[in-house]
Amino acid sequence: MTSKTFTVGWLYPDLMNIYGDRGNILTLLRRAEWRGYDPKLVELGRGTTSQMDEVDVFFFGGGQDREQALVYQDLLEFKQPPLERAVANGAVVLAVCGGYQLLGHYYQTAEGETFPGIGMIDVKTEAGKKRFIGDVVVDSEIETITPRTLVGFENHSGRTYLGPKAKPLGKARLGYGNNGSDGMEGCLQGTVLGTYLHGSLLPKNPHLADYLIRSALIRRGVDELSPLDDSVELAAHERILQRAQHQHQHH
Ligand code: GLN
Repeated sequence: MTSKTFTVGWLYPDLMNIYGDRGNILTLLRRAEWRGYDPKLVELGRGTTSQMDEVDVFFFGGGQDREQALVYQDLLEFKQPPLERAVANGAVVLAVCGGYQLLGHYYQTAEGETFPGIGMIDVKTEAGKKRFIGDVVVDSEIETITPRTLVGFENHSGRTYLGPKAKPLGKARLGYGNNGSDGMEGCLQGTVLGTYLHGSLLPKNPHLADYLIRSALIRRGVDELSPLDDSVELAAHERILQRAQHQHQHH
């Protein structure tokens, strides 16, 4: 591993990529590049495991039930062992929606079909009747990020429940979050972060992008990232917060 390369591993780029999830990849790569790293993208489609040991941050995006049905076996068969090794070595994983569900114990569809996940995070998901769609504002539990809020957009019917090993990413100030009943959104378990926030999460939450990059670089002895001018990104963040406040009042 050359120390000045920053590598993102994209799980199933052809199948698990909806609602602008690709923006997350671009944000991670660009923000590392702005700090002098050589950005590298490794695409991990079905059947591929190449270079998984070089990856700093894995991204596992969303997909509908149909796409999840097409990838879960590959995940179990090919990706689970190298992914577990990578995470044990300090690599970071960001999983959104469909990807979040498959990193847990299982996802059960509304028709009662069960797709086993890899149990890397202590969560399970079962589809409900009502689809949860709309803006989300999260008060994050991550103490080292400023601002503490995260903004995004959710669109899922899965209800995710956390077991004792998984901690929530935060409280949903607006939106349904994990299951629409306990008020929590997402999960954090070691260096794995799962969330329902789409709509290109990281471009609008640069502080979360840096949290992920920093977490991945700790094993290389990096503990501070040089600051960037995030005024444009944070203005987008602020605008969504304000819009959300407004929506909240009209509920
Ligand atoms: N099938 C999942 C759900 O509806 C995932 C949806 C998604 O990734 N947007 O809960």
